[in-house]
Amino acid sequence: MEYNIALLRGDGIGPEIVDSAVEVLEVIGEKYGHKFNFTPYLIGGAAIDETGEPLPKETVEGCLNSDSVLLGAVGGPKWDTLPGDKRPEKALLGIRSALGLFTNLRPAKLYPALSGDCPLRPDIVKNGFDIMIVRELTGGIYFGDRGYREGKYGQEAYDTECYSRMEIERIARVAFETARKRNGNVISIDKANVLETSRLWRKTVHEIGESDYPDVKCQDMLVDNAAMQLVKNPAQFDVVVTSNMFGDILSDEASQITGSIGMLPSASLNESTRGMYEPIHGSAPDIAGQNIANPIATILSAAMMLRYSFSLAEEANAIENAVDSFLNDGLRTADIVGDSGKTPLGTTEVTAEIIKRL
Ligand code: NAD
Repeated sequence: MEYNIALLRGDGIGPEIVDSAVEVLEVIGEKYGHKFNFTPYLIGGAAIDETGEPLPKETVEGCLNSDSVLLGAVGGPKWDTLPGDKRPEKALLGIRSALGLFTNLRPAKLYPALSGDCPLRPDIVKNGFDIMIVRELTGGIYFGDRGYREGKYGQEAYDTECYSRMEIERIARVAFETARKRNGNVISIDKANVLETSRLWRKTVHEIGESDYPDVKCQDMLVDNAAMQLVKNPAQFDVVVTSNMFGDILSDEASQITGSIGMLPSASLNESTRGMYEPIHGSAPDIAGQNIANPIATILSAAMMLRYSFSLAEEANAIENAVDSFLNDGLRTADIVGDSGKTPLGTTEVTAEIIKRL
């Protein structure tokens, strides 16, 4: 099969880590008989420098005409003083909305080989954990009505949370489908003791679960309790489904307890198979161009692309197993070397070691 992939390298370490993932995909293509065609487009600061816009029209069109999108990261001090709508980060919201990406899948996995980097007590994480956070990405309070007005105490600001049954239903279906491919457990997180949107959320999730996914176990958890449970007993979570803002916060908490920001991939999906795949970290301008960035989050994002956009599960597993084997063999990058005394490998060496293990 032939697949067209739009590459958004972006800024900082973006180009280095995207190039690593491309190398890995090229080897997968050779081994399994696929052809991946890569077309680069400008985004973020690099696009501002060339065109004056963080998200040029050609980039949006190129992504819409591709089978899938691989993104590095955007932003950096050079563009930090630009006005809000001209900043690199503006391109992220723009491309997500242009592609209609309403689902954000963020796995948070503690690799046994890295359990020493986890900030939680060893007895809590002795069996590791593997959580898939399914976050709603285009609704809720980040997109609701907002503004300023005169109130009882003078000027006040407000933001509103709004969710339709349709928006909740479609994200719930993603969570149930995802759970079917994993351990069959969904925990839906809301604040139904206070928020009306959460009550509709809870009711809709259960209706869909009971009618169409009776084989998947579904429980509710209040968001404040979820924040505690994530650090108390992270292994209890399999698939988590939640709203845009709760997902934003909880997925960052979950990524921190893995202890390795350079290892975590993500996928943003819509109803079609065209998704956008990117590491969860930023452009790390402090280490850009030094060949020390960890490319594994981006390589694992490419694996998610194979699994979720192209239904190439075997090929995705090959990449994930190569990363497991890299870690189990004791190889490390600078961000995960800790006090192990090991010599960290650079970006290009890591890529070569992972390719060796495919
Ligand atoms: P960051 O994630 O870029 O970096 C935080 C720290 O983690 C830094 O010390 C960095 O060196 C390290 N780090 C991150 N990724 C790494 C990797 N792959 N390997 C090794 N170390 C890694 O977050 P920040 O410093 O807050 O932001 C830097 C820029 O990135 C800002 O302009 C910010 O707006 C942008 N940003 C972009 C995205 C995105 O493109 N999706 C996300 C977050 C931040």
